[in-house]
Amino acid sequence: MQDTTLDLVIIGGGPAGMGAALIAGRSLLRTVVINAESPRNAVTRASHGFLTRDGAHPDALVAVAKEQLREYDTVAYETGRVAKVEPASGGGFLIKHADGRAWRTPQVILATGYRDDLDRLELPGLDQVYGTGVFICPFCDGFEHAGERLAVFGGLGCELMVSMLRNWSSDVVVFTNGRTLDASTSRDLAAHGVTVESGRVHRLVSDDGRLQAVELVDGRRVERDAGFIADDFSGPATSFAADLGVATTRNFLDREVLQADATGKTAVDGVYIVGDMRTGFSGLLAAANDGSDCVKHIVHTLAAERWSRA
Ligand SMILES: Cc1cc2nc3c(=O)[nH]c(=O)nc-3n(C[C@H](O)[C@H](O)[C@H](O)COP(=O)(O)OP(=O)(O)OC[C@H]3O[C@@H](n4cnc5c(N)ncnc54)[C@H](O)[C@@H]3O)c2cc1C
Repeated sequence: MQDTTLDLVIIGGGPAGMGAALIAGRSLLRTVVINAESPRNAVTRASHGFLTRDGAHPDALVAVAKEQLREYDTVAYETGRVAKVEPASGGGFLIKHADGRAWRTPQVILATGYRDDLDRLELPGLDQVYGTGVFICPFCDGFEHAGERLAVFGGLGCELMVSMLRNWSSDVVVFTNGRTLDASTSRDLAAHGVTVESGRVHRLVSDDGRLQAVELVDGRRVERDAGFIADDFSGPATSFAADLGVATTRNFLDREVLQADATGKTAVDGVYIVGDMRTGFSGLLAAANDGSDCVKHIVHTLAAERWSRA
């Protein structure tokens, strides 16, 4: 068992976890951050939209965050994977690292993000282009593909993505991969002049990570320069929150997400969730802010408790 006088353990060190760690350090909280260093956007070559970091490689974001965290003596950074989080007898939580070490903490922030399950989409060749030629967020990658021939992969929910992408390009084709769209979506897309390919996709053709075309099982080939996925194919990267009894709710896209308030506080005392794990998709800047806000809330609460006891 490691140090038993911790205030906080943060599991996950993407922007959400590192945003939390930075404010924890600045607030003198005795903190351990454990990070497997495999952020969700690791597949990309450049991240966009993060003020002062536009175009940065995902590795660079982690490296700078680690470097800046070294200033804060009360924060220890551990590389590796947490295997288990469980309630400790006598209160708090036991955090078990895969290498056998364990930490006891009164509070835990879960910042392990989401994972995208490409296999669920049944789009052969997607692994060659995901994050470099096929994306999920127009704000992150739309600019680089403005005016290009775009594909949207999706059934239910594709209309929202198409209407968004029209901001960047007028040439958007929907590939439903064998699914039938409901009548009202089909009508709306047709009214806006959007072509819908409803056959099954044979494979995505690409070169060095760039999408070139979508081949359909009927033998046709539709030339496309980039694509965006409208389907739900993601979920929490770890089951720690669910294992600790955190309930689920639905987000603005009607997708299931873990339930926590805007500060990351869950209904389970001492358990906080931040970043993608809380929202399903935060983006880097919002994830960093989420982590930071969560620790501010924790420090406020601790200060108020101390104040009322004194
Ligand atoms: C293809 C793609 C492109 C994107 N491009 C952009 C972009 O350009 N701009 C933008 O703002 N957003 C972008 N995003 C979204 C962005 O990556 C996420 O919103 C953001 O990374 C969420 O931050 P997070 O800290 O919540 O999770 P993550 O960044 O995923 O970090 C989670 C961390 O937890 C660690 N972890 C997981 N399990 C464990 C464990 N058991 N023990 C210890 N550590 C663990 C992981 O290794 C990882 O380091 C993109 C996403 C994708 C998929």
